Amino acid sequence: MSSDFFRAFFMIYIHIPFCKQKCSYCNFHFSTSMQLKEGMIAAMKKEIALRKGELQHKTLRSLYFGGGTPSVLSPDEINGLIDEVLKYFSFEKDIEITLEANPDDLDNNFLKALSKFPVNRLSIGTQSFFDADLKLMNRAHNASEAEGSIKRAQDYGFENLSIDLIYGSPTSGLEVWKENLKRTIALEVPHISSYALTVEPKTALENWIEKGKVSTPKEEEQNSEFYYLSSFLKDHGFDHYEISNFAKPGFYSRHNSAYWKYHEYLGIGPSAHSYNGFDKRSWNVAHNQHYIQKLSSGMLAKEEEILSEKDQFNEMIMIGLRTVWGIDLDQLKTKFSEALIENFNAGIRQKMLDGILITENNHLKIPEEHWFMADGIASDLFMV
Ligand code: SF4
Repeated sequence: MSSDFFRAFFMIYIHIPFCKQKCSYCNFHFSTSMQLKEGMIAAMKKEIALRKGELQHKTLRSLYFGGGTPSVLSPDEINGLIDEVLKYFSFEKDIEITLEANPDDLDNNFLKALSKFPVNRLSIGTQSFFDADLKLMNRAHNASEAEGSIKRAQDYGFENLSIDLIYGSPTSGLEVWKENLKRTIALEVPHISSYALTVEPKTALENWIEKGKVSTPKEEEQNSEFYYLSSFLKDHGFDHYEISNFAKPGFYSRHNSAYWKYHEYLGIGPSAHSYNGFDKRSWNVAHNQHYIQKLSSGMLAKEEEILSEKDQFNEMIMIGLRTVWGIDLDQLKTKFSEALIENFNAGIRQKMLDGILITENNHLKIPEEHWFMADGIASDLFMV
C-alpha cells in the first residue's frame, strides 16, 4: 500500500476534561466540578466549527473521546458532539468512534441510550478486578462494577471493547495479576491496554509513598508482571502490537495505530494536541475556563510550534521502537539528513550486536523480550 493511501485520512481526538473524583496516580488535565460542563460542550462545538477548514481534503477515519472521563457526559451530549464533527468533516463509512468510559457510568440506561448512537467502540477504565487495588487507586468503581460493566456493554451489543488494566500495584503481586488476566480472558474482551502503576509528581500516590503509608511499586515485580501479561495474552490469541497494547486480530485500535504511524490528528478541547503528520504540532490551553472564554469570543485557544529536525527524529525513534512495526529505515533515510542517519547507524551498531535491536524487512525493532527497556533504548539513540 502506498504512503499516499495512509496520508489520505486523519483522526479527531476530543478531550472531555471532567472526572467524578481524582484517582490517586493521575496527573491528567481534568476538573472534578461539573459546573462548566454545558459551557464546555458549547465551546467544543465552536472549536469543531472553527477548525472545519483544516483537513477538508482528507477523510476522518477515527473519532476518539478521551479524558478525563467522557462517560460523565450524557449519551445525548456525546451524540451532539459526534453530529457536530460529522457535519463538518467527511468521514469513512465504517469510521471508528471510541468512547472512554468508567465502569460506574455504564449502567443499563446509559448503555441503552448509547447503543442507539454511532459509538462503536468502548474503552473501559477497568484497571483491576480487585477491590484492594481499586481502593489504592481511588477509583470511583469497585470490583463487581468492573466485571458487571463489561458484561452489560456486551449485552447491549458493544463487541469492540477494550479494557485498561494496571499492573505492579503494591496492593497486589503476580498471583493477583494472574487472576486479573484470567478474568479478562473469561470476559472475552478483544483488546487490552495495560500500564505499570507509575508514581507521577504531585499525586496523592506520591504523597502516600513519601509519608510511608504505601510502599513504592517494585520495578522487578512490574517487570515480571509485564512479561507474564505478554506471554499469557499471546497464548490466548492476542497480538502484542505496542508495548502497552494487545488485540485479537481485527480489533487493533485504529485510532492509536494511526498515532503510532505519525498520521495527522486534530485535538479538540482543553489540553488536546494536534499534529499535521509532518512538522507542526499545536496544543490547546490546559485550563477549562480560559478555553471556554477564548472560544466564546470566537477565537481558538491554541498555540503551535514547528518541530525541529531533532524533535521529529526523536519522536519517530521513541514511537517506532514501542511498536511491533518498528522504525521504517527507508522512511527515516528519506526524511532526515545524511549526517544524522550516519550518527544513528553508529548508535545502533553495538545494540544490534548485543541483540537488543534487530532489523526485519528494513524495519528496526526491539525484540519483544527487551520491550520493557524500550524507552531507555530509544533515548540512547536520540539526537541531542
Ligand atoms: S478517571 Fe482517568 S482521567 Fe480521571 S482521574 Fe481517574 S485516571 Fe485520571
